[in-house]
Amino acid sequence: MLSCLPNLVMDKETYAFWIKLSEMLVGYQTKVPQKTSRKKGVPNAPIDSDSLTNLIRVCQKQAALRWSFVDIPQASRFGGPYYSDDSSTRDPTTRKIDRILEVIKTAWAVGNEDVCRFLLFELVAKAGWRSTRSKYQELYTPLMPRLRGLTNMDMSRPPVVDFFRLVIGTCLQDVLGKCSAPKHNLRTMGCGCTVCQALDRFILDGSVQSQNHTFWQAFTTHAQQQVNAAADLFTCQVRTGVRISQPARKRSKPVSASYFVLQLEKRPGVVGATNYLVCKNITKAFLASVGSDDVIREIMAPRYEDVQKALMGVCKYLIDAQIQLTPADAPAPSVDATSTGQKRKPL
Ligand SMILES: [Zn+2]
Repeated sequence: MLSCLPNLVMDKETYAFWIKLSEMLVGYQTKVPQKTSRKKGVPNAPIDSDSLTNLIRVCQKQAALRWSFVDIPQASRFGGPYYSDDSSTRDPTTRKIDRILEVIKTAWAVGNEDVCRFLLFELVAKAGWRSTRSKYQELYTPLMPRLRGLTNMDMSRPPVVDFFRLVIGTCLQDVLGKCSAPKHNLRTMGCGCTVCQALDRFILDGSVQSQNHTFWQAFTTHAQQQVNAAADLFTCQVRTGVRISQPARKRSKPVSASYFVLQLEKRPGVVGATNYLVCKNITKAFLASVGSDDVIREIMAPRYEDVQKALMGVCKYLIDAQIQLTPADAPAPSVDATSTGQKRKPL
């Protein structure tokens, strides 16, 4: 079949065609005989049930290969997207997740577990995110509750349970990472005023070591107290200055305003502690997206105890080497042509 449709096979934007064709062929399944005396090379010979099943598998696999190739809507001059189709106005990540669920649901309904395994392997192998933690935030965390919500699936069976174990384990191993939290009493400053908000953002930002904050108001006693209270987290130097602005009218006097700059520098270890806190929050949010503690226990058994130890910072989690999600016909890495910059091989 694929050799008859070379343009469609080469075109990465034919997801809708393949998924619709597979659905139509599934609807046709009850109308074909179990076996026919079909002879090779005979035109117009009737198709039998086995050949139709193979054809459905081919279509579903072609759809699975295209889960990530979604159009990004371009804004029109009126502010909205050019498209009128509702599905195309959803954000790209949501549409990718829609496709993942559609392929898995369709394939599972006809017992095509190979395609499910193939697609789940694709998700794990797919590059294109800024970091592992952003992949968890942007793809896995919104995907998990919807995947668990598929009513026609048995979540306790491979390959789905293997997929859950693998992504949960990878999250604990690579996102949470370190075995113990650095010993710093990270905290927010508290009162919600402008100065406190700025200090809180600085403390909880794991990507910066130092930062300057400029204020046009006087550096108040309250701010001084808050900075002094955080002396174990960062050092602070205050620099003052005066800015003079020329007035709009010629005869008016120049306007001057005093400003205060807080030069903040985190103490050693605080950045590491902040990063650990950020990673722990991402891990917890991801686990919550999978389900309750009982659900995690059910999926991860007998490794649930190790999960708990990793979350408590007792020891680092290492994923099981024996978890095999790799399908027999694993896709070539070049499927991710957009992220690798390599030329895509024919599908
Ligand atoms: Zn305050």
